[in-house]
Parts: sequence; C-alpha cells; structure tokens
Amino acid sequence: MSSKKNEIKKLPRQVRNQISAGEVVKRPASVVKELIENSIDAGADKISVEITEGGREKIMVRDNGIGIPSDKIEEAFERYTTSKIREIDDIHSLETLGFRGEALASIASVSRLKIKSRYQSEKKGTIIKFAGGEKKERKTAGLPVGTEIEVRDLFFNTPARFKHLKKSATEAKQVSRRITAEALAYPEINFSYENDGSERMKTPGDGNLKSVIFHLFGEEIYSELIKVNSSSKILELSGFIAGPKVTRSSRRYEFFFINRRPAINGNLRKGVESGYSEYLNKGKYPLVFLNISINPILTDFNVHPNKKKIKFSRGQEIREIIAGEIEEALKNYEGTKTDINQK
Ligand code: ADP
Ligand code: MG
Repeated sequence: MSSKKNEIKKLPRQVRNQISAGEVVKRPASVVKELIENSIDAGADKISVEITEGGREKIMVRDNGIGIPSDKIEEAFERYTTSKIREIDDIHSLETLGFRGEALASIASVSRLKIKSRYQSEKKGTIIKFAGGEKKERKTAGLPVGTEIEVRDLFFNTPARFKHLKKSATEAKQVSRRITAEALAYPEINFSYENDGSERMKTPGDGNLKSVIFHLFGEEIYSELIKVNSSSKILELSGFIAGPKVTRSSRRYEFFFINRRPAINGNLRKGVESGYSEYLNKGKYPLVFLNISINPILTDFNVHPNKKKIKFSRGQEIREIIAGEIEEALKNYEGTKTDINQK
C-alpha cells in the first residue's frame, strides 16, 4: 500500500457533508420530508411544495413560518447547527421534528440549492445560492416573511447516488405519499402540492382531520369514516378508521402518527389488522388514520436519521390496546348500522 493511503487525514467539510447526505437524503421524497419538517418547526400554517420530473429536476418548498435571521442562514447550512436542541437530554423532551442539524447541510452538498428567507422581525429578506454546498451568491431582496428553498439537480455531483434514482413517476409517487402523510398529521396546515405544473393536492388547513381525508381521498372513503377516540394508561388514540366496506389491497392506507410524526411501526400495524381480522379477507387491508399520543419515553425515534421507523418499549401491550380499541370501534359501528336497518 502506498504511504499516501495510510496517512490519516480529516476529510474536507464538503466530503463529510456528502457522506452524511447518504444517510439523510436518499431521494426527492426525503428532501421534501426534511424541508416540510423544517417549515412545520418554523410555525408555518401554509406550506407549498412543487416538483418537476419527480423532483429529479426541481424540488421547491415554501412556507410562511418565522424565517431565518439574515446573519444566521449560512450557519443553518453548516452541519450540526440547529436552533432546536442545546444538549443531549433535550432529545427526550423534543417539541420539534428536527434536531440533528444535518438536513440543510446534507441537501445543499448534493444539489444546487437556492434559499430565500425573511425573518419575521426583519424588513428585508436574503437570497443565497449554493452549488454542491459552496456558496455562490448572496443578495438582499424584498420578500414575504417565511422561507423558500429550491433544490435543483439532486445528486448532480454524486453519480453513484444519482444512478439509484428511479424514474420520475416513481419518485413523484414517493413525494406525493410523503406530503399526504404530513397533511394528515397537520390538519391545521394548509398544504398544496404541484407536480410538473399541475395541482395534485390541496388541504384546507382548517384543523379538521376529517376534512383533510375528504380532500385527499374523496367522498367514498369520507362517508365510511368511523371516529376513534380513547385513552388508556399508556396512550391516547384518536382519528378515524374506515368501515370494513372500503378496503385496499396494500397497506399504503394505514397511516399512523406517533406524537404527530408520520411513522411506521409493526406493533401498530399488527394491532390494527388484528382488530379488523373478523371483517377483512386475506390480502385486504384497512384504511386508518390514527394519532397515537404516548409518553416519548416509550418511543425511540432516533433509530434512523430519517426517523420513519420507530421502536416502542412495551410494544406488545401497545399492540393489544390498539387491537382492542379497533375491534370495539368496528363492533359499535356495525351495531349502529343494524339499528338503522331495523328501523
Ligand atoms: P434541524 O432541523 O435538525 O435543526 P436543519 O439542517 O434541517 O436541522 O436546519 C438547520 C436550522 O435551520 C434549523 O434548526 C432552523 O433554525 C433553520 N431552518 C431550516 N429551515 C427553516 C425554515 N423553513 N424556516 C425557519 N428556519 C429554518
Ligand atoms: Mg430539519
């Protein structure tokens, strides 16, 4: 081996950011997720997303949150810079979605990124352009309060990652699913989504989950919704499930929000499906939109940087509670239906 290879050296900042980008930024949908979460953390009640070519060409997320102070924007694009935690223990009492301070640095390092932001107490906004994480341009401009981030040419400088992108339609589907989940998790936020110039989704932002479901999925599902609302020793369950008349042949319509984060968890899935077991044929899955609020001590969101899969302690117990509640809700619902029929 050449002596050069053996030499231990700290990697340049750009390379470090690109490596960590591999964890955070897998595809357009993960960029959308990170940017939306930042917008939510910034207190936005209006978030617009636009993509072209499945996000391979362009991803834009605009919000009306508090914005970033002009002299803090560059800092926000450094790794491990965050306004959200100060010490490790803060992770356990987190009220924000972000905390790693990695997203902006990572995304910028593998794209051409333009940020426009105006902080709430400042008169003017700032526009900064980055390419591969390097600052290219900075100017002041008249802007509304809030932040707009445009990401172009994702992975233009990391060919190995670029190669793994799927065709535009597939990427767009993932993006759409992500926005759907966020819109369901935050009924008080007005989401809109445009793909290749045409509007695909819009939610009213009136704080009503049922009306979000109506706007996203239409009358058929809306009219079959059953309200769920219960609390037990370790968790509170709220939201809607669809009556067993409407089913799907995949799990894509099983939505779970744990302390308001869209999440995937085996115990929740199995609990729901066992609650429905009397009603569903093999290969059919229910539609559920369920908020679980639970003591964060019982959850571990930190299993992976993209925070989609979560782990529970006392998972078995949680699974049984969910199964029981679903079964109960369906039983009552079937009961009211027979009452009506008998009248
Ligand atoms: P994290 O969200 O983990 O803190 P990010 O890299 O996603 O890390 O963002 C870094 C910082 O930039 C945030 O802590 C926040 O202060 C600021 N920021 C990012 N996006 C926005 C936004 N849309 N509105 C206001 N501030 C933002
Ligand atoms: Mg973030």
